[in-house]
Amino acid sequence: MIPVPSKSLARCSESLARSKVPLSLAMELCVLPLTLRNNGTLVVATSKERAFEVERNLKFYTNSQIELHICEESFIQDAIKVAYKGSSEEIEAMAIMEDEPISKEILWGETDSQVVKLLEALIDYALVLGASDLHLNPKIDGVYAKFRIKGELRSTTKPIFSLSKLAQATRRLKVLARLNITGSSVQEGRFDLKETSIRVSIVPSLHGEKVALRFFGGSGDINFHSLGFSPAKREIIRTALKEKDGLIVVSGPTGSGKTTTLYSLVPLLKEHNIMSIEDPPERVLEDVTQICVTKDLSFSLGLKAILRQDPDVILVGEIRDSETARLANQAANTGHLVLSSLHSGSVEGVKLRFKQLGVREPNFKLIIVQRLAPILCEKCKVVDLNRSNTHKRKIFRRTGCAECDYTGIGARALLCEVSGLEESFEAQWNQLYFSGKVDTPWSTDQTCA
Ligand SMILES: [Zn+2]
Repeated sequence: MIPVPSKSLARCSESLARSKVPLSLAMELCVLPLTLRNNGTLVVATSKERAFEVERNLKFYTNSQIELHICEESFIQDAIKVAYKGSSEEIEAMAIMEDEPISKEILWGETDSQVVKLLEALIDYALVLGASDLHLNPKIDGVYAKFRIKGELRSTTKPIFSLSKLAQATRRLKVLARLNITGSSVQEGRFDLKETSIRVSIVPSLHGEKVALRFFGGSGDINFHSLGFSPAKREIIRTALKEKDGLIVVSGPTGSGKTTTLYSLVPLLKEHNIMSIEDPPERVLEDVTQICVTKDLSFSLGLKAILRQDPDVILVGEIRDSETARLANQAANTGHLVLSSLHSGSVEGVKLRFKQLGVREPNFKLIIVQRLAPILCEKCKVVDLNRSNTHKRKIFRRTGCAECDYTGIGARALLCEVSGLEESFEAQWNQLYFSGKVDTPWSTDQTCA
């Protein structure tokens, strides 16, 4: 260990070396870049305790060999501040902005990087198309962009940038979502862009980090009446919401709009004290205290905390484990109306799932199971002559036009089964089929979400 005062240590730090490591990372790792050798090796000072972590993280971050010089930690911390003087104002300015909604200019304007510009264009494009998700998918020949629009996933036909540029794009997204930029691990975060909240999920894959962005429609109430429930079903749902206690469960496959339905019920309960625990909140709800699940706060822990806050109505984003199921039912039995979602395909499936999760007598007031059926685009659907002849009925098939962005699908229709009302998915789907709104009859492996 070399006993050097901070100032002398700071003087050993060259700006070219510092340009490889941003201040925030230097502070986080307690590392001072000293020099960059001709062979590309980055020489840094760090403490004995941090040596291993620094070498591994910097190697990944800078893509160079790292040479370590061990010093005392307190010296390094001070030396970093001295050496990086000048950029600290920028960091502080950014720190103040964090609490404000980030404008697009601040988000993207500070860089000329082509990849970042492309990323911005991709997100813009996805939002204009009304996509719910944008994926960056690294394959052997480069990174493909995929958009999920009206439930269907569409990929670019060729890579939009090379694998070597991917790290730049993911680093940008990690910074925006306040994730750890040095590690290559499974991470999730979010950031806001105007009215859209964007969830960022990153997983390491064979050819690099795969990114999935999910766009959330911001804040404001969702109109229950606009979702497409029939008048009879609306009446059943409204009646259930008048209950003082019990479970109301919305179920369905991934992407079937469970959360949208749950959120649409909230404005109907406005006069109550409503609290939610979600992973994460997909929308900012007025008049609801929304709690976010974190690494240290599980659904069940959050639910326990909520119960001490005297709520009337509790929204549990999703029931995934037996403790949450048990607590939710316990709350439902002790004077709370509990709204939640569960991944299942039928009313019977929901009941079975609660049993599997160890809840013997769930206090159900209502179970809604829903799916979204892709409706043929009215502008371009055509009569399928062969099948129409065979079945002696008019049957349509999809083609594609500018109106539906060449998918053949115009919108999605809500199908749902509600406990206490006999109307199966099959009957609802076939009604669409016979009126020429979908191109196939019902089958049990129906591909609709
Ligand atoms: Zn069309």
